[in-house]
Amino acid sequence: MNKGKYAEIIINISHENVDRPYTYAVPDELKDKVFIGSVVNVPFGKGDTARKGIIVDFCDEVDFDESKIKSIAGIEEKDVSLSDIRVKLAVWMKQNYGSTLANALKTVLPVKKKVNRAVTKVIIRNVSVENVDEEIKKTENTRKVARLRLLRAVRDEERIPKRALSEKLHISDATINNLVKDGIILLEELKKDNKNAFLTDQKGLSLSDEQKLIVDAAIEDLDEKRHETFLIHGITGSGKTEVYLKIVEETLKRGRQAIVLIPEIALTYQTVMRFYNRFGDRVIIMNSTLSAGEKYECIEKAQNGEADIVIGPRSALFVPFKNLGVIIIDEEHETSYKSETVPKYHARETAEELARMNSALLVLGSATPSVDAYYKAGTGEYRLFNLTKRLTGNQLPNVIVTDLRSELRNGNRTIISKTLKSLLEDRLNKGEQSMLFINRRGLAGFVSCRACGFVVKCPHCDVSLSLHKNGKLICHYCGYTIDNFKTCPECGSKYISGFRAGTEQVEETVKKMFPKARTMRMDADTTKEKDSYEKIISGFLDGEADILIGTQMIVKGHDFKNVTLVGVLAADMSLFEADFKAPERTFQLLTQAAGRAGRGEVPGDVVIQTYKPDNYVIMHAAAQDYEGFYEEEILYRKLMNYPPAGHMLNVLVTGKNEAEAGKLSEMMCKALREYFDSVVIGPAPGFLSKINDVYRFVFYVKDKDYQKLVKIKDYLEEGLSKIKKRSALVFFDFDPQNMQ
Ligand code: ADP
Ligand code: ZN
Ligand code: ZN
Repeated sequence: MNKGKYAEIIINISHENVDRPYTYAVPDELKDKVFIGSVVNVPFGKGDTARKGIIVDFCDEVDFDESKIKSIAGIEEKDVSLSDIRVKLAVWMKQNYGSTLANALKTVLPVKKKVNRAVTKVIIRNVSVENVDEEIKKTENTRKVARLRLLRAVRDEERIPKRALSEKLHISDATINNLVKDGIILLEELKKDNKNAFLTDQKGLSLSDEQKLIVDAAIEDLDEKRHETFLIHGITGSGKTEVYLKIVEETLKRGRQAIVLIPEIALTYQTVMRFYNRFGDRVIIMNSTLSAGEKYECIEKAQNGEADIVIGPRSALFVPFKNLGVIIIDEEHETSYKSETVPKYHARETAEELARMNSALLVLGSATPSVDAYYKAGTGEYRLFNLTKRLTGNQLPNVIVTDLRSELRNGNRTIISKTLKSLLEDRLNKGEQSMLFINRRGLAGFVSCRACGFVVKCPHCDVSLSLHKNGKLICHYCGYTIDNFKTCPECGSKYISGFRAGTEQVEETVKKMFPKARTMRMDADTTKEKDSYEKIISGFLDGEADILIGTQMIVKGHDFKNVTLVGVLAADMSLFEADFKAPERTFQLLTQAAGRAGRGEVPGDVVIQTYKPDNYVIMHAAAQDYEGFYEEEILYRKLMNYPPAGHMLNVLVTGKNEAEAGKLSEMMCKALREYFDSVVIGPAPGFLSKINDVYRFVFYVKDKDYQKLVKIKDYLEEGLSKIKKRSALVFFDFDPQNMQ
């Protein structure tokens, strides 16, 4: 690597300002000793005060007076707080995801914000369980649902962190204070030096043979200080969380710490309490609603050893533990693990790197593993474990697939099939709850025939074409464009059109069908306000509605004991999104949706409505057969060279000047086609071709070898740096999860 005469140095990275690097000369005697990521001493500011800085880049030229440039004074050898693993991780992220090191550092390093520490409070039951039961009886016939919820929580748990109650159970301070006044609970402040040891011994279950196999393997790795990645494939209720708890316990016993990633939407009160009950106040719960002060407090607690476990979303990965022993990623297939801001890192891959650097264990778990992870289990890169039995005794739901084409033939134009209608009626009569699920994400829709199920696809990329306002159908991978059809090319029917259905329309239909039914709606609109999401969830739990209608949000992670019917209104909606991951996402969604039915004693029914009942995704989801799905899916990926069989680099070019952005993307594609043998697809207008007057173009580069794509990114970056007066911006995304 050419290191160049000058080094770009970020000063004092422990403060929030890592934006601007300063240029320093590299003295000859240091040339061989400094690298990107090295911590050096430099003179800084008016009095040339000695400061620490980190090298983020090298260069040969500067566009200002060279005589004014100061030199690096020396290398800082000892400072572990700066040159520690996280800086190395940032360098790795920069190299693998195409970002500036400054941006990677900002992601990885804690932002120091000295704020007064918030007081952590705990609620403690102050009377016997019998007394709480009496109080529950008295409250049951009133309208005080929040008080009832709190009483039930207090009956089940002796200690509850206050934050779990307010954030996860949506219980207000007023409700809590009333119970304090009544003498039923105490509200205590947690002291800073609290060393409330974990209570695990009383609560650990004896493991099943399948569970024990995993935990034993983990113990071996922990004892040997060996890095390995486990993938646990097990349906909901098969005991994955119990395995996580045991592995965390073994990690703690060995004086090491644990990071547990759980998608925010799946981190329910029950899960929080399971960790809290085992490990007490040594657990930190992180989420996106934390204030800067609260976030800093978490980081501080991890750093000075006040806590050993952090549970949180993607960003919890960067909590600075001293001796990290295990990283657990639950629901590893969730797309929220991929960052959509630069650096566009994937938590799974980044966790793997972090675990490797720490000689730590990485444990992935899912009921529907990502095709990427399952593929790696197949190649031996990951170690696969299966949990095959439900430990709760709950039965698997009964899945019914209904053919929407025949509904149309029989004159039913609504989105609710005869079968679903009669099952809904049955549940309303019995006083049981139902959920109707609309698996819709994107904006631009695909075009399909409601008479025969035909879907218009790109002949080159095998993804659905998207309908645009101008009436054209466009492929967002390669740019292939045709006019929209007036009649179906397969069957000649006139029922061919863009596919759309929203939660509001469905709610209207349901209300017309069942005027007495109480409905609730959960989508982006009804969850805009703070806490509205939790309010809907707890309202539905409290039985305030018979039917919950919603998007993806309703099928993730919640335990609705009284729900015995789930209807997926049109499985095709996510199946034919214009993206090669659409089948995988649909399989996961259908499986999750099915998992919502019959969580209590009564077995549930799941109705999957579709125009393509013989599609492999629908068939395997109905049979709840993951392996069957995977076998077919991986064949298709291999055939099309899509990840994980190959790798993809997505390049997004944006600009207010449409012609410039378009020309730049074409220029890049042309150069790549000339100098590299990787497959270049595009450019095409983006999935959203214009946002806020900014035009978007995309192209893709495919190759079996990831490192070749990294080289291509470097090549493009270098070329771009030579273009003077460029206003279009260029973004890189490796193995993209979402359409651009
Ligand atoms: P998952 O995380 O896969 O959904 P859980 O760990 O939550 O599964 O387990 C499902 C249920 O089974 C929980 O109620 C849990 O307490 C119980 N369970 C888990 N492991 C055992 C075990 N070894 N013995 C008895 N019950 C268990
Ligand atoms: Zn047709
Ligand atoms: Zn195409």
